[in-house]
Amino acid sequence: MENKKKLRKISELGEFGLIDYITKDFNQSKDGLIKGIGDDAAVFETKNKLSVITTDLLVEGVHFNLIYTPLKHLGYKSVVVNLSDLYSMNAVPQYILVSIALSAKFSVEAVEEIYKGIKLACERFGVVLIGGDTTSSLSGLFINITAIGFAEKDKVYYRSGAKKNDLICVSGDLGAAYMGLQILEREKEIFLKDSYIKPDFEGFDYLIERQLKPEPRRDIIHFIEENNIKVNAMIDISDGLSSELLHLCKNSNLGCRVYSEKIPINPQTEAAADKFRIDALTAALNGGEDYELLFTAPIEMKEKLEKHNDISIIGYITEDIAKVLVTPTGSEIELKAQGWNAMSKND
Ligand code: ADP
Ligand code: MG
Repeated sequence: MENKKKLRKISELGEFGLIDYITKDFNQSKDGLIKGIGDDAAVFETKNKLSVITTDLLVEGVHFNLIYTPLKHLGYKSVVVNLSDLYSMNAVPQYILVSIALSAKFSVEAVEEIYKGIKLACERFGVVLIGGDTTSSLSGLFINITAIGFAEKDKVYYRSGAKKNDLICVSGDLGAAYMGLQILEREKEIFLKDSYIKPDFEGFDYLIERQLKPEPRRDIIHFIEENNIKVNAMIDISDGLSSELLHLCKNSNLGCRVYSEKIPINPQTEAAADKFRIDALTAALNGGEDYELLFTAPIEMKEKLEKHNDISIIGYITEDIAKVLVTPTGSEIELKAQGWNAMSKND
Protein backbone atom coordinates (compact mmCIF):
# COMPACT_ATOMS: atom_id res chain seq x y z
CA MET A 1 0.00 0.00 0.00
CA GLU A 2 2.73 2.37 1.07
CA ASN A 3 4.85 1.70 -2.02
CA LYS A 4 2.42 3.53 -4.29
CA LYS A 5 3.24 6.94 -2.78
CA LYS A 6 6.63 8.49 -3.05
CA LEU A 7 8.23 7.98 0.32
CA ARG A 8 10.55 10.49 1.85
CA LYS A 9 13.83 9.49 3.44
CA ILE A 10 14.28 10.62 7.00
CA SER A 11 17.60 12.18 6.03
CA GLU A 12 15.67 14.68 3.88
CA LEU A 13 14.23 16.19 7.05
CA GLY A 14 17.07 15.49 9.47
CA GLU A 15 16.55 14.63 13.14
CA PHE A 16 15.18 17.99 14.23
CA GLY A 17 13.07 18.39 11.13
CA LEU A 18 11.58 14.95 11.74
CA ILE A 19 10.79 15.72 15.40
CA ASP A 20 9.09 18.99 14.40
CA TYR A 21 7.17 17.26 11.64
CA ILE A 22 5.82 14.34 13.65
CA THR A 23 4.97 16.36 16.75
CA LYS A 24 3.45 19.43 15.10
CA ASP A 25 -0.18 18.31 15.42
CA PHE A 26 0.03 17.20 19.02
CA ASN A 27 -1.96 19.17 21.56
CA GLN A 28 0.39 20.79 24.09
CA SER A 29 -2.07 22.24 26.52
CA LYS A 30 -3.19 20.72 29.78
CA ASP A 31 -3.96 22.11 33.18
CA GLY A 32 -0.67 22.02 35.09
CA LEU A 33 1.54 21.62 32.03
CA ILE A 34 4.13 24.39 31.98
CA LYS A 35 6.49 23.24 29.20
CA GLY A 36 5.90 20.38 26.79
CA ILE A 37 7.93 19.52 23.69
CA GLY A 38 10.66 21.96 22.71
CA ASP A 39 13.07 22.41 25.59
CA ASP A 40 15.67 20.18 27.21
CA ALA A 41 13.00 18.74 29.47
CA ALA A 42 9.29 19.03 30.10
CA VAL A 43 7.84 20.78 33.16
CA PHE A 44 4.49 20.17 34.87
CA GLU A 45 2.87 20.79 38.21
CA THR A 46 1.41 17.95 40.29
CA LYS A 47 -0.82 19.85 42.77
CA ASN A 48 -0.80 17.64 45.83
CA LYS A 49 -1.28 14.41 43.87
CA LEU A 50 0.97 11.40 43.74
CA SER A 51 2.89 10.93 40.49
CA VAL A 52 2.74 7.40 39.09
CA ILE A 53 5.25 6.58 36.36
CA THR A 54 5.76 3.56 34.13
CA THR A 55 7.72 2.71 31.00
CA ASP A 56 7.77 -0.03 28.36
CA LEU A 57 10.32 -0.84 25.69
CA LEU A 58 9.08 -2.53 22.53
CA VAL A 59 11.59 -4.15 20.21
CA GLU A 60 10.92 -5.19 16.61
CA GLY A 61 11.08 -8.95 16.21
CA VAL A 62 10.73 -9.47 19.97
CA HIS A 63 7.52 -7.65 20.89
CA PHE A 64 6.05 -6.99 17.48
CA ASN A 65 6.42 -8.13 13.92
CA LEU A 66 6.02 -5.51 11.21
CA ILE A 67 4.82 -8.10 8.69
CA TYR A 68 1.39 -8.12 10.30
CA THR A 69 1.39 -5.13 12.61
CA PRO A 70 0.09 -1.95 10.97
CA LEU A 71 2.28 0.96 12.12
CA LYS A 72 -0.69 2.98 13.33
CA HIS A 73 -1.79 0.07 15.51
CA LEU A 74 1.74 -0.28 16.81
CA GLY A 75 1.80 3.37 17.87
CA TYR A 76 -1.59 3.02 19.55
CA LYS A 77 -0.71 -0.20 21.34
CA SER A 78 2.66 1.15 22.53
CA VAL A 79 0.80 3.91 24.35
CA VAL A 80 -2.13 1.92 25.73
CA VAL A 81 -0.02 -0.85 27.27
CA ASN A 82 1.51 1.86 29.44
CA LEU A 83 -1.86 3.41 30.23
CA SER A 84 -3.08 -0.01 31.33
CA ASP A 85 -0.26 -0.05 33.93
CA LEU A 86 -1.35 3.37 35.20
CA TYR A 87 -5.04 2.45 35.41
CA SER A 88 -4.17 -0.69 37.36
CA MET A 89 -2.49 1.55 39.96
CA ASN A 90 -5.64 3.73 39.99
CA ALA A 91 -3.80 6.67 38.48
CA VAL A 92 -5.24 8.98 35.83
CA PRO A 93 -2.86 9.11 32.84
CA GLN A 94 -1.63 12.64 32.08
CA TYR A 95 1.54 12.65 30.01
CA ILE A 96 3.66 10.42 27.81
CA LEU A 97 7.21 10.57 26.48
CA VAL A 98 8.01 8.64 23.32
CA SER A 99 11.50 7.55 22.29
CA ILE A 100 12.14 5.84 19.00
CA ALA A 101 15.15 4.28 17.33
CA LEU A 102 14.68 3.94 13.57
CA SER A 103 16.51 1.78 11.07
CA ALA A 104 17.44 3.15 7.67
CA LYS A 105 14.52 1.39 5.96
CA PHE A 106 12.04 3.69 7.72
CA SER A 107 10.50 6.53 5.74
CA VAL A 108 9.08 9.77 7.10
CA GLU A 109 5.63 8.42 6.20
CA ALA A 110 6.20 5.26 8.24
CA VAL A 111 7.10 7.30 11.32
CA GLU A 112 4.07 9.46 10.66
CA GLU A 113 1.84 6.37 10.75
CA ILE A 114 3.23 5.36 14.14
CA TYR A 115 2.53 8.86 15.44
CA LYS A 116 -1.02 8.77 14.09
CA GLY A 117 -1.65 5.82 16.37
CA ILE A 118 0.09 7.57 19.27
CA LYS A 119 -2.06 10.65 18.66
CA LEU A 120 -5.27 8.62 18.60
CA ALA A 121 -4.39 7.11 21.97
CA CYS A 122 -3.50 10.55 23.36
CA GLU A 123 -6.85 11.97 22.28
CA ARG A 124 -8.89 9.01 23.43
CA PHE A 125 -7.33 8.88 26.89
CA GLY A 126 -6.67 12.59 27.41
CA VAL A 127 -2.89 12.42 27.64
CA VAL A 128 -0.38 14.89 26.27
CA LEU A 129 2.87 13.97 24.52
CA ILE A 130 5.48 16.09 26.31
CA GLY A 131 8.73 14.82 24.86
CA GLY A 132 10.92 11.93 23.88
CA ASP A 133 14.05 11.12 21.96
CA THR A 134 14.82 10.16 18.40
CA THR A 135 17.80 8.19 17.23
CA SER A 136 18.86 5.66 14.61
CA SER A 137 19.06 1.91 14.96
CA LEU A 138 21.14 -0.70 13.17
CA SER A 139 18.73 -3.49 13.99
CA GLY A 140 15.09 -2.65 13.53
CA LEU A 141 12.60 -0.42 15.28
CA PHE A 142 12.59 0.32 19.01
CA ILE A 143 9.81 2.22 20.74
CA ASN A 144 10.02 3.23 24.36
CA ILE A 145 7.09 4.96 25.98
CA THR A 146 7.01 6.45 29.44
CA ALA A 147 3.63 7.35 30.87
CA ILE A 148 2.95 9.57 33.85
CA GLY A 149 -0.30 9.61 35.79
CA PHE A 150 -1.63 11.31 38.89
CA ALA A 151 -3.33 9.53 41.75
CA GLU A 152 -5.10 10.64 44.89
CA LYS A 153 -3.03 10.05 48.01
CA ASP A 154 -4.17 6.83 49.76
CA LYS A 155 -5.98 5.64 46.65
CA VAL A 156 -3.21 3.84 44.80
CA TYR A 157 -3.81 0.12 44.21
CA TYR A 158 -0.72 -1.97 44.89
CA ARG A 159 -0.10 -5.63 44.16
CA SER A 160 0.69 -6.06 47.84
CA GLY A 161 -2.69 -4.99 49.18
CA ALA A 162 -4.68 -8.25 48.95
CA LYS A 163 -6.33 -9.45 52.17
CA LYS A 164 -7.33 -12.92 53.32
CA ASN A 165 -10.77 -13.95 51.94
CA ASP A 166 -10.79 -11.18 49.31
CA LEU A 167 -12.69 -11.99 46.14
CA ILE A 168 -10.45 -12.34 43.10
CA CYS A 169 -11.91 -10.55 40.07
CA VAL A 170 -10.96 -10.18 36.43
CA SER A 171 -12.38 -7.88 33.79
CA GLY A 172 -13.24 -8.91 30.22
CA ASP A 173 -12.07 -12.24 28.88
CA LEU A 174 -8.66 -13.87 28.69
CA GLY A 175 -6.57 -15.66 26.10
CA ALA A 176 -7.99 -13.86 23.07
CA ALA A 177 -4.89 -11.77 22.31
CA TYR A 178 -2.74 -14.89 22.44
CA MET A 179 -5.01 -16.74 20.01
CA GLY A 180 -5.01 -13.63 17.79
CA LEU A 181 -1.24 -13.82 17.71
CA GLN A 182 -1.36 -17.52 16.77
CA ILE A 183 -3.63 -16.69 13.83
CA LEU A 184 -1.42 -13.80 12.66
CA GLU A 185 1.67 -16.00 12.96
CA ARG A 186 0.01 -18.76 10.95
CA GLU A 187 -1.05 -16.33 8.23
CA LYS A 188 2.47 -14.90 8.17
CA GLU A 189 3.92 -18.35 7.50
CA ILE A 190 1.42 -18.95 4.70
CA PHE A 191 2.10 -15.50 3.25
CA LEU A 192 5.87 -16.02 3.32
CA LYS A 193 5.45 -19.22 1.31
CA ASP A 194 3.03 -17.74 -1.20
CA SER A 195 2.30 -14.03 -1.15
CA TYR A 196 -0.74 -14.47 -3.44
CA ILE A 197 -2.75 -16.21 -0.75
CA LYS A 198 -4.88 -13.68 1.09
CA PRO A 199 -4.99 -13.92 4.89
CA ASP A 200 -7.97 -15.80 6.24
CA PHE A 201 -9.21 -14.22 9.47
CA GLU A 202 -12.81 -15.28 8.91
CA GLY A 203 -14.64 -15.62 12.20
CA PHE A 204 -11.66 -14.51 14.25
CA ASP A 205 -11.91 -10.73 13.94
CA TYR A 206 -12.27 -10.28 17.70
CA LEU A 207 -9.03 -12.15 18.34
CA ILE A 208 -7.07 -10.13 15.78
CA GLU A 209 -8.42 -6.93 17.28
CA ARG A 210 -7.47 -8.04 20.79
CA GLN A 211 -3.91 -8.67 19.62
CA LEU A 212 -3.42 -5.60 17.46
CA LYS A 213 -5.59 -3.04 19.23
CA PRO A 214 -5.93 -3.73 22.94
CA GLU A 215 -8.01 -1.31 25.03
CA PRO A 216 -7.00 -0.47 28.59
CA ARG A 217 -9.90 -0.87 31.05
CA ARG A 218 -10.48 2.72 32.06
CA ASP A 219 -14.19 1.86 32.09
CA ILE A 220 -13.69 -0.69 34.88
CA ILE A 221 -11.72 1.84 36.94
CA HIS A 222 -14.59 4.31 36.50
CA PHE A 223 -17.15 1.67 37.46
CA ILE A 224 -15.22 0.89 40.64
CA GLU A 225 -14.99 4.58 41.51
CA GLU A 226 -18.62 5.40 40.71
CA ASN A 227 -19.94 2.48 42.73
CA ASN A 228 -17.71 3.07 45.72
CA ILE A 229 -16.20 -0.38 45.43
CA LYS A 230 -13.30 -0.99 47.75
CA VAL A 231 -10.36 -2.59 45.98
CA ASN A 232 -7.44 -3.95 48.00
CA ALA A 233 -5.00 -4.94 45.27
CA MET A 234 -4.80 -4.66 41.49
CA ILE A 235 -2.51 -5.65 38.63
CA ASP A 236 -3.02 -5.52 34.88
CA ILE A 237 -2.89 -8.78 32.97
CA SER A 238 -0.05 -8.45 30.50
CA ASP A 239 1.73 -11.79 30.98
CA GLY A 240 -1.19 -14.17 31.50
CA LEU A 241 -3.49 -14.70 34.46
CA SER A 242 -1.24 -17.29 36.19
CA SER A 243 1.77 -15.06 36.23
CA GLU A 244 -0.21 -12.04 37.49
CA LEU A 245 -1.96 -14.08 40.18
CA LEU A 246 1.39 -15.31 41.41
CA HIS A 247 2.73 -11.73 41.54
CA LEU A 248 -0.30 -10.54 43.44
CA CYS A 249 -0.16 -13.41 45.96
CA LYS A 250 3.59 -13.20 46.42
CA ASN A 251 3.51 -9.45 47.01
CA SER A 252 0.61 -9.81 49.44
CA ASN A 253 2.16 -12.82 51.22
CA LEU A 254 -0.99 -14.85 50.69
CA GLY A 255 -2.30 -17.61 48.43
CA CYS A 256 -5.32 -18.09 46.23
CA ARG A 257 -7.95 -20.55 45.15
CA VAL A 258 -9.36 -19.97 41.66
CA TYR A 259 -11.91 -22.02 39.76
CA SER A 260 -11.11 -22.86 36.16
CA GLU A 261 -14.73 -22.78 35.00
CA LYS A 262 -15.06 -19.20 36.28
CA ILE A 263 -12.23 -17.91 34.10
CA PRO A 264 -13.83 -15.82 31.32
CA ILE A 265 -13.05 -17.06 27.81
CA ASN A 266 -14.64 -15.70 24.62
CA PRO A 267 -16.28 -18.24 22.23
CA GLN A 268 -13.89 -17.13 19.44
CA THR A 269 -10.96 -17.96 21.72
CA GLU A 270 -12.45 -21.41 22.30
CA ALA A 271 -12.97 -21.95 18.57
CA ALA A 272 -9.47 -20.85 17.63
CA ALA A 273 -7.92 -22.88 20.45
CA ASP A 274 -9.80 -25.92 19.14
CA LYS A 275 -8.43 -25.33 15.66
CA PHE A 276 -4.88 -24.96 16.91
CA ARG A 277 -5.19 -27.89 19.31
CA ILE A 278 -4.38 -25.66 22.25
CA ASP A 279 -6.39 -25.79 25.44
CA ALA A 280 -8.31 -22.50 25.68
CA LEU A 281 -7.78 -22.43 29.43
CA THR A 282 -4.03 -22.71 28.92
CA ALA A 283 -4.24 -19.71 26.56
CA ALA A 284 -6.18 -17.77 29.21
CA LEU A 285 -3.75 -18.67 31.98
CA ASN A 286 -0.50 -18.23 30.13
CA GLY A 287 -1.20 -16.31 26.93
CA GLY A 288 -0.68 -12.72 27.89
CA GLU A 289 -1.33 -9.32 26.30
CA ASP A 290 -4.96 -9.25 27.40
CA TYR A 291 -4.54 -5.92 29.24
CA GLU A 292 -7.48 -6.76 31.45
CA LEU A 293 -7.49 -5.99 35.17
CA LEU A 294 -7.02 -8.53 37.96
CA PHE A 295 -8.02 -7.24 41.37
CA THR A 296 -9.12 -8.28 44.82
CA ALA A 297 -11.97 -6.82 46.84
CA PRO A 298 -13.51 -7.56 50.24
CA ILE A 299 -16.33 -10.10 50.16
CA GLU A 300 -18.88 -7.39 51.07
CA MET A 301 -18.33 -5.95 47.59
CA LYS A 302 -19.76 -9.06 45.92
CA GLU A 303 -23.19 -7.67 45.11
CA LYS A 304 -21.82 -4.47 43.61
CA LEU A 305 -19.28 -6.36 41.55
CA GLU A 306 -21.90 -8.75 40.20
CA LYS A 307 -23.79 -5.80 38.71
CA HIS A 308 -21.14 -5.48 36.03
CA ASN A 309 -21.44 -8.21 33.43
CA ASP A 310 -17.83 -7.77 32.31
CA ILE A 311 -16.38 -8.52 35.74
CA SER A 312 -15.94 -12.17 36.76
CA ILE A 313 -15.28 -13.38 40.27
CA ILE A 314 -12.91 -16.30 39.76
CA GLY A 315 -11.95 -17.26 43.30
CA TYR A 316 -10.64 -15.90 46.56
CA ILE A 317 -7.48 -15.09 48.48
CA THR A 318 -6.34 -17.60 51.10
CA GLU A 319 -4.12 -17.37 54.14
CA ASP A 320 -2.33 -20.53 53.05
CA ILE A 321 0.25 -19.36 50.48
CA ALA A 322 -0.52 -22.21 48.03
CA LYS A 323 -1.82 -20.95 44.68
CA VAL A 324 -4.47 -23.43 43.65
CA LEU A 325 -6.52 -23.89 40.50
CA VAL A 326 -9.62 -26.02 40.99
CA THR A 327 -10.86 -27.91 37.92
CA PRO A 328 -14.55 -28.66 37.22
CA THR A 329 -14.09 -32.19 38.57
CA GLY A 330 -12.75 -30.77 41.81
CA SER A 331 -9.11 -31.72 41.37
CA GLU A 332 -6.56 -29.17 42.47
CA ILE A 333 -3.60 -28.02 40.43
CA GLU A 334 -0.81 -25.77 41.57
CA LEU A 335 -0.72 -22.59 39.51
CA LYS A 336 2.55 -22.05 37.71
CA ALA A 337 3.60 -19.03 35.72
CA GLN A 338 4.91 -20.91 32.72
CA GLY A 339 4.96 -24.31 31.16
CA TRP A 340 1.78 -25.26 32.89
CA ASN A 341 0.19 -27.78 30.54
CA ALA A 342 -1.59 -30.24 32.77
CA MET A 343 -4.82 -29.68 30.86
CA SER A 344 -3.51 -29.53 27.30
CA LYS A 345 -5.29 -31.84 24.92
CA ASN A 346 -2.17 -33.73 24.01
CA ASP A 347 -1.85 -35.18 27.50
P1 ADP B 1 17.82 16.97 23.44
O1 ADP B 1 18.99 17.23 22.54
O2 ADP B 1 17.76 17.88 24.61
O3 ADP B 1 17.65 15.53 23.76
P2 ADP B 1 16.04 16.77 21.23
O4 ADP B 1 16.51 17.61 20.13
O5 ADP B 1 16.28 15.32 21.22
O6 ADP B 1 16.55 17.41 22.60
O7 ADP B 1 14.49 17.00 21.40
C1 ADP B 1 13.89 18.27 21.23
C2 ADP B 1 12.50 18.21 21.80
O8 ADP B 1 11.73 17.27 21.10
C3 ADP B 1 12.47 17.79 23.26
O9 ADP B 1 11.38 18.45 23.87
C4 ADP B 1 12.21 16.31 23.18
O10 ADP B 1 11.57 15.85 24.35
C5 ADP B 1 11.29 16.24 21.95
N1 ADP B 1 11.39 14.96 21.22
C6 ADP B 1 12.49 14.40 20.68
N2 ADP B 1 12.22 13.26 20.05
C7 ADP B 1 10.89 13.04 20.21
C8 ADP B 1 10.00 12.03 19.80
N3 ADP B 1 10.39 10.95 19.12
N4 ADP B 1 8.70 12.14 20.15
C9 ADP B 1 8.29 13.22 20.86
N5 ADP B 1 9.06 14.22 21.26
C10 ADP B 1 10.37 14.15 20.95
MG1 MG C 1 17.31 14.02 22.37
